[in-house]
Amino acid sequence: MMQVFMPLNFLGFVYREMKGAMTNIENMFALMAAKPKVADSETAGELRVPEGEIVFRDVCFGYSASRDIVRGVSFRVPARQKVALVGSSGAGKSTLFKLLFRFYDVSSGDITIDGQSVRSVTQSSLRRHIGVVPQDTVLFNTSIFENVRYGRIEASDDEVWEAIRLAYLTDFIAELPDKEHTLVGERGLKLSGGEKQRVSIARALLKQPPIMVFDEATSSLDSHSEKVILQAIRDISHQQTTLVIAHRLSTIMDADRIIVLENGRVAEQGSHGELLARRGLYAHLWDVQQHEQGDHSPAP
Ligand code: ADP
Ligand code: MG
Repeated sequence: MMQVFMPLNFLGFVYREMKGAMTNIENMFALMAAKPKVADSETAGELRVPEGEIVFRDVCFGYSASRDIVRGVSFRVPARQKVALVGSSGAGKSTLFKLLFRFYDVSSGDITIDGQSVRSVTQSSLRRHIGVVPQDTVLFNTSIFENVRYGRIEASDDEVWEAIRLAYLTDFIAELPDKEHTLVGERGLKLSGGEKQRVSIARALLKQPPIMVFDEATSSLDSHSEKVILQAIRDISHQQTTLVIAHRLSTIMDADRIIVLENGRVAEQGSHGELLARRGLYAHLWDVQQHEQGDHSPAP
């Protein structure tokens, strides 16, 4: 009898793991990682987020001991404000997000949310409170509707439809062969980078966590859908703390504070106006992008 029960128990374990993961998209990424890099401390409690203030204090980190990637980064994201991280590719922006999620542990310094170190709380509670729209979205082999619902699996159909509308996917879905039942992902319809980003944004809008993190979340969208989606995000995110990494500076001009990262350090910070007035790195990036935009705009 034992021989029969053992595999069944094991299947039960796998099922519970999967089911747990499905309630939270970020856990899925954690599960897919080959090896857990960090573990909950024995005394880990549940994260509480009454306000949503994030503080990076003198954070240092490297993927290997021989090379520091983040070197003494400090900044604060006040509750319900929007802070943008900008800087050239490889500056360490996505790494800061991974540290906030505690995919890795800082080598020194600390990251706190409402005063609680991310190392002192359970990873599941940490990830439950943070919604992420990553640089690369993973789609599951299921319908596009269910893919959106992964943001919050207990959401009603009406709520899923509303998230789809806000992410500007309604018309796209109406034109699919099986509408919202159309299978997507590896074994279904392959979506473009921009379509995947919109699914990812719909998931995040459905989840409505107190903290939202966008990593170049609209980089593959055409400028019209980008504008519409950014406005939708703005409309619903005034109640949330928002941390956004953006390549196109025109999309984050309205941020309460902009952190300019260079080579793992904070080079400058301030509002768009303050940074332009400084005539430093940000102002330089801004000038370069204004020029590019001029060069690439279609002829009238
Ligand atoms: P950004 O998002 O600003 O473009 P990243 O944070 O992704 O930059 O990367 C910062 C640096 O860390 C880069 O030099 C990158 O090659 C390196 N890096 C990123 N992820 C890993 C990893 N998993 N292992 C080793 N090095 C990494
Ligand atoms: Mg990045």
